[in-house]
Amino acid sequence: MAAHEPIPMVDLRANFAPLREEILAGVAEILDTGQFILGPHGRALEESAAAQLGVNHAIGCASGTDALLLALRALDIGPGDEVIVPTFTFIATAEAVLYVGATPVFVDVNPHSFNIDVAAVAAAITPRTKAIIPVHLYGQPADMLPLMALADQHGVPIIEDCAQAFGAHIDGRMAGSFGRIGAFSFFPSKNLGGAGDGGMVVTNDEKLAARLRVLRNHGSSQQYYHDELGYNSRLDEIQALVLRLKLARINDYTAGRRNAAALYRRYLGNLDLVLPQERSGFYHVYHQFTIQLEERDRVRAELAAQGIASAVYYPVPCHRQRMFAPAPAADCPAADQLAGRVLSLPMYPELQEAQVARIAEALSASIRG
Ligand SMILES: *Cc1c(COP(=O)(O)O)cnc(C)c1O
Repeated sequence: MAAHEPIPMVDLRANFAPLREEILAGVAEILDTGQFILGPHGRALEESAAAQLGVNHAIGCASGTDALLLALRALDIGPGDEVIVPTFTFIATAEAVLYVGATPVFVDVNPHSFNIDVAAVAAAITPRTKAIIPVHLYGQPADMLPLMALADQHGVPIIEDCAQAFGAHIDGRMAGSFGRIGAFSFFPSKNLGGAGDGGMVVTNDEKLAARLRVLRNHGSSQQYYHDELGYNSRLDEIQALVLRLKLARINDYTAGRRNAAALYRRYLGNLDLVLPQERSGFYHVYHQFTIQLEERDRVRAELAAQGIASAVYYPVPCHRQRMFAPAPAADCPAADQLAGRVLSLPMYPELQEAQVARIAEALSASIRG
């Protein structure tokens, strides 16, 4: 019977179940103290996240989108400035650039890594380029070393979009610790996810950290004194409590995801599809396990008919979104092709071998059929 239970993309209930009692006790304590915003859980989370990521400062905020927005504001990016963004990403990466009045300049991605194409970045840099935002898409670090060399050569800061990559690293150096600022999302389905929205910015620069703290709290460093236009973008104590409990287990979650990915590789190895690349030295945390195949939409429908979820991240690259019209669409052939071929399979720490086997069987039948 269990073999026919639906297989979801993520199973947040399974993830929360072992934490349920601890979370409920913690929430009760927060309710009793009445300290809901900017309290001890938030501070403790910031400290342990900074330690885990190997950075000097971590600042909680309301979402991953806000983390990007705060990062751009802290770097004084605004109207007239250009920010280079990979076109194959979640829209929030580019939205944040629009929020500050700057212009996103979309560049293509590498079709094997799905990540920003460093040569395309080099070709897109102009005197107006004020930042580059690589995205560690699906949980594999972007090609940070050549990108940093290029950015340094032009004196352009990097903001890393780490929304899908908590715990990813390149030879031990954590995603989020490469650029001037790293931006994280704690949306529930992310690798480190809360029980609601949340985000974090990290940096090694003390001045930027202080500025980010001011910006997230109404431009205020001293209560009711406001030095500049800021935001209401704080991480609340209940989210911070949940995230602390999950952060303590993040290595287990990542191990579960990587185990599921290894199973997929084993079970799908002989099928007519392209497995995701895992670059040597790059520690992939598998926010998604994303294959490429022909007739993607037919296969997806056939999986759905058997109760197997899958998802297309992303069917329309940013440079083709109506949001950015009437700017002429950039030339990004790799992203255009990926948009028609990618399929993300169920991926979560608790995914079982029997489920992977069933997904593989369904895929195999669909691809042959
Ligand atoms: C989820 C995500 C964001 C936005 O994070 P939110 O917390 O949902 O605002 C930004 N960039 C990427 C690549 C994401 O996947």
